[in-house]
This record gives sequence, C-alpha cells and structure tokens, in this order.
Amino acid sequence: MTTIIDGKANAQQLRTSLAKEVALLKSEHGLIPGLAVVLVGEDPASQVYVRNKAKQTVEVGMQSFEHRLDASTDEDTLLNLIATLNADDSVHGILVQLPLPAHINEFKVINAVSHEKDVDGFHLINVGRLNTDGGGVVPCTPLGSLMMLKSHLGDLTGLNAVIVGRSNIVGKPMAALLLKASCTVTIAHSRTRNLEELCRTADILVAAVGRPRMIQGDWIKPGATVIDVGINRIEEDGATKLVGDVDFQSASEVAGAITPVPGGVGPMTIACLLHNTVQQAKSIAGIT
Ligand code: NDP
Repeated sequence: MTTIIDGKANAQQLRTSLAKEVALLKSEHGLIPGLAVVLVGEDPASQVYVRNKAKQTVEVGMQSFEHRLDASTDEDTLLNLIATLNADDSVHGILVQLPLPAHINEFKVINAVSHEKDVDGFHLINVGRLNTDGGGVVPCTPLGSLMMLKSHLGDLTGLNAVIVGRSNIVGKPMAALLLKASCTVTIAHSRTRNLEELCRTADILVAAVGRPRMIQGDWIKPGATVIDVGINRIEEDGATKLVGDVDFQSASEVAGAITPVPGGVGPMTIACLLHNTVQQAKSIAGIT
C-alpha cells in the first residue's frame, strides 16, 4: 500500500513552528517579519494565490503588505515600487507574482528585488549560491518538496533521483537541492529519450511538467517516492478538476509514497514562502 505524503499536514506543522518563532522574534527582539506581495494584472489563478499567501502570512503573526497594480502598469512604475520596498525596513520579503504582463521584463524585475529580500530565491545571486556554496534563499516549491522527501525518507544519500522538467523555478533548483543531499540526479525534459525507462530507474521521481496525468503507474519503480509538482486544471465529468502531472490512480498502486494533487506540494510551497521570509528577517536583523 502506498503512503500518501500529506502536504497539508506537513505545511500545518511548519506554520505552527513558524508561528512560535515569530512570537519569539516579536517578544525578544521587537521584530515582526513582513512579506510584501506584488500582483500586476487580474489573472484569476494569481489572485487566489496572492489571497492565500496574505491570509497565511497574517495567521502566523507576520505583517502582510499587498500591492495590486493594474495590468497596464509600466515597467518603471513596478521597478520604483520594488525600490521602495527594498528600502522599507518593515519589509523582509518581496514576492512579485509571476507571470507578469508581456510588456514587462520579468528577468529585470526579479533581479531588481534585493537578493536579501528575494524570498522566491529567483535572484541571480541566490541561484548562484544554491549551485555553489548551497546558501542563499532556496525557491519555495523545491524546498517544500525536499522537506517532504526528507521527512518521509530521512537520509537521501545515494538514491537515484529523476526530475522531469528543467524550469528555473522548479526543475533546476530541485536538482541542485537533491544533488546537495547526495542523490544521483538526472534531469529529464521534452527532448529526453526513453523517458519512461529513465523514470523507472528513479528511487525519487519528481514530476514538474505541466501535463495532466502524463506519468503513468508503469513508469514508476515499485516502492519509489513520487513528488507530483504539477497543477493542471482539467474539465472532467462536467466539472473542473485539479490534477497533477502523475496519474495518481495507477501510480499509487506502484509507488511506495506519493504526494496528492491538490494537498501535496502546493500547501508546502506557501508554507516555505513564510519560512523564507522569517529566515530573511532574521538574517537582515543579524539574529542567528
Ligand atoms: P515549465 O513549463 O516552465 O516547464 C515544464 C518542463 O517540462 C520543461 O522543462 C519541459 O521541457 C518539460 N516537458 C514538457 N513536456 C514534456 C514531455 N512531454 N516530456 C518531458 N518533459 C516535458 O513549468 P514549471 O516548471 O513552471 O511548472 C511545472 C508544473 O508545476 C506546472 O504544472 C505548474 O503549474 C506546476 N507548479 C506547481 C507549483 C506548486 O506550488 N505546486 C509551483 C510551480 C509550478 P523543455 O524544457 O524541453 O521544454
């Protein structure tokens, strides 16, 4: 029988420990970690994410600052807002919700955020650090995935990890984290040959593709641990459903453990955003 790795429960546990840490920071240092979220435009999925992030930020005792800008906002206005937030001592984390409208240069915006306040871990300095000394801010989705892997498997040393997907926000940082945890790592993508065969070599299989239910049960090594990062909205049986990149039904007959969608990586991603903000607030204030 497969074990369902419960992302909601893992996230709740992390938030509970963060709430305690935030209360201590407040009482002992007068420090209230603050997270600013910037949303440009009216993308419905982004609006839901931003609302959830703000709600959970406040629930753990932190300050939440929301900046909603019109879709027609120009790049300079956004860069000016980021400069203001970089200089604001009550803000310790800045998250610019992606995707941005096409007329705004995403790379420029991401790198305009102070690397110390870059709680997404997308700034070049943080990307460079993750791939060299292992420090810096780690992107939330891979960090949450790693936390769940470690809490389920313990030591990951020597395990074969296959990551399907090579994006900058999931696949590549996930590979860096698993390499740091001494796994033997393979990154697959749309040009990979014999993908099914490769997946069957994985003790840890991470799916970050964006294709509903692509990975089937017979692609999975019996007993493997499967992390399904995918979030896909599909129409089925007359309803809109959220499904992962893994076919949960067939996969759960083979895998040793698997994250569900919804309720797996998603909740951990937000909890890790709060975790990163608390860490950066401490780092900026020089608290160890
Ligand atoms: P991207 O679209 O940036 O990357 C997808 C990757 O999958 C690419 O590397 C692409 O390869 C690869 N790919 C596409 N088709 C295939 C295929 N047929 N076979 C093998 N590889 C393929 O997506 P993201 O990394 O941003 O996101 C991946 C998924 O994770 C999405 O469903 C997204 O919604 C979800 N997500 C979930 C989060 C969460 O909090 N749970 C957070 C972020 C993302 P190539 O590079 O060759 O094109």
